[in-house]
Amino acid sequence: MPTLARPAAVSQRPAARPGHWVIAHEPVCPECGSFDVTTDEVDTGDGLTETAYMCTPCGCAWPLACVSDWEANR
Ligand SMILES: [Zn+2]
Repeated sequence: MPTLARPAAVSQRPAARPGHWVIAHEPVCPECGSFDVTTDEVDTGDGLTETAYMCTPCGCAWPLACVSDWEANR
């Protein structure tokens, strides 16, 4: 089972808090740009699994969505 790769812009696991905005990630591989993407249960490295996108060509996986500060998007 692959470990969950984080996009370069997201250095740590975002926490869901009031006033923050959940952004759905595009189903496009951040590593190779492929659209050949599936969803699967992926090991986050914390002893947990979560549903994530997984790239068929390169095996890269990333979260379905991240949480961002709403104010930063205005
Ligand atoms: Zn890929």
